[in-house]
Amino acid sequence: RKAAYAALRDVAPETKDGHRLTVMVNAGLRDDVAALDVTGADGIGLFRTEFQFLVSATLPQRERQQRLYREVLDAAGARPVIFRTVDIGGDKALPYLIHAEDEENPAMGWRALRLALERDGLMKAQARALLEAAAGRTLNVMFPMVSEAWEFDEARALFEKQRDFLASRNKRLPLEVNYGAMLEVPALAYQLDLLLPSVDFLSIGTNDLTQFLFAADRANPKLAERYDWLSTSILRFLRRVAVPAAQAGVPVGVCGEMGGRPLEAMALIGIGIDRLSITPAAVGPVKAMIRSLDRGALTAFMDELLARPPRDLRGALARWAAEQGV
Ligand code: PEP
Ligand code: MG
Repeated sequence: RKAAYAALRDVAPETKDGHRLTVMVNAGLRDDVAALDVTGADGIGLFRTEFQFLVSATLPQRERQQRLYREVLDAAGARPVIFRTVDIGGDKALPYLIHAEDEENPAMGWRALRLALERDGLMKAQARALLEAAAGRTLNVMFPMVSEAWEFDEARALFEKQRDFLASRNKRLPLEVNYGAMLEVPALAYQLDLLLPSVDFLSIGTNDLTQFLFAADRANPKLAERYDWLSTSILRFLRRVAVPAAQAGVPVGVCGEMGGRPLEAMALIGIGIDRLSITPAAVGPVKAMIRSLDRGALTAFMDELLARPPRDLRGALARWAAEQGV
């Protein structure tokens, strides 16, 4: 099997009926970039920049951040990299940055963009580091835990201000900057009309989204079996995001662990998601699934399934996949 997956390295993730999907990998450290060559993935769909902060004893200064981002872009070459601004705070507290005030619910606490917009010195330094590292190329950046459209607008404006500053100093700039929002807080789905006109792409973080949608702690093993990614609520929710985004011409991907499981990835494709960013080990199995898939037939099946969902949605999807030879 491993050899079969390795043989798929240079083969495109295209369905039997000719839809070219995008399969990227999740990364966070300099050495993770090697996974691009090993798997033949289309790029890095989620680069978790907080890893550098978490493995560091002191706050990484702008130059150090910039060096990492440049090395990652150099190694990725022509393949796109989507940098996520720091997702720290809450349970990923940094002793050198935050007064570690105990929070009762750190996952729902003062973290990610909430913290970054307030401690904006941190975000400004990161913006400068990213913009300078991507001089002469495309920069793709996305913001974690966006809960309301105005938070995205503020983060984007902060980056644009740094870009103007660099321009006023005659510094070389990125050729293009694409800004995306992570959709992992359910509330944001009810502001898509406000958000879609100003984002270049959306990336759905199903790890956090699931925990918030089901009110089920993602780190609690007692709940892991209870709330299935292949559930009516999650799939209907995701479809209600994917459809208006597609109508607005905004690409939508999934970057949570859900996309790395072949049956889950199949269900995502069936509701209109055509970009996945997954753990490198999952690229082979997911590509193999995609290449055996008739997307037209799957879409029709999923429409019917979600209109009258059985209690065992996973079972129904698995049976369909087996019948179709997926
Ligand atoms: C997610 O929440 O699905 C996600 C991709 O981000 P993280 O796992 O880093 O919170
Ligand atoms: Mg998340």
